[in-house]
Amino acid sequence: MKYIFVTGGVVSSLGKGIVTSSLGAILRARGYRVTAVKIDPYINVDAGTMRPYEHGEVFVTADGAETDLDIGHYERFLDRDLSRGNNITTGQVYLSVIQKERRGEYLSQTVQVIPHITDEIKRRIRQVAEAQQAEIVVVEVGGTVGDIESLPFLEAIRQFRFDEGPEDTLYIHLTLVPYLRTSEEFKTKPTQHSVATLRGVGIQPDVIVVRSERPLPPEVRKKIALFTNVHPDEVFSSHDVEHLYEVPLILEEQGLGKTVERKLGLEKVLPNLSVW
Ligand code: ADP
Repeated sequence: MKYIFVTGGVVSSLGKGIVTSSLGAILRARGYRVTAVKIDPYINVDAGTMRPYEHGEVFVTADGAETDLDIGHYERFLDRDLSRGNNITTGQVYLSVIQKERRGEYLSQTVQVIPHITDEIKRRIRQVAEAQQAEIVVVEVGGTVGDIESLPFLEAIRQFRFDEGPEDTLYIHLTLVPYLRTSEEFKTKPTQHSVATLRGVGIQPDVIVVRSERPLPPEVRKKIALFTNVHPDEVFSSHDVEHLYEVPLILEEQGLGKTVERKLGLEKVLPNLSVW
């Protein structure tokens, strides 16, 4: 099982859901069994009790769960039905840990964020991946790096690399590169700060995806690479497009699928046709 984690920096509503769905579509097109999980750091148990004007549509899964709208994006891009387990919230995690505590499952222990909450987060991610027999699970961590609410989730995904090994885990960080029309410049400083914050919780991203108004020029990619310790070929641009279904295409054009396969050791071994 391979785990890909998508985090976001700088501002919220950047497009983590779209990048997660697009990556899922790219990998699915290559023949892998993919599922996607959305982590929501709010304390609501599900999205059913939130104001849709503020939060967006409540997406109801085939098994009746009222989930975040990103689950709808995942279903449409992955062309598969997802279930209750594909949306994990802080509310669900705490509810189940507290219920276990009341049942006496942690007798004699002090129940803490680390390891009890983080173990419950990891258990839920593994459970949904196994139940859906996925080869690859793409996990989107909602919120923005630096939020207090996201910390237990970032700690849990940090531990994943330790548990599963670097060949089975990949960290993708999505950031914003503002374009200043007056000076005609792309500004990389917010990205540098956001990656520094991510490193501060022990996660070095393997791939950077940048949201910006326009496609990133090569020198901006190079600069981001230098400051964030990734190769320039591992910096991708998810610039503004008219239709969302173009996003997987622009990411694939830049080689995201190939990069992810290479970094996870997934490259399918094709016969060397040149010898025939
Ligand atoms: P997040 O998951 O980070 O909160 P979403 O994935 O829900 O963000 O995206 C926020 C909004 O940005 C959505 O309305 C989405 O349609 C839009 N969006 C995301 N990526 C792009 C893009 N490359 N071009 C145009 N719009 C985009």
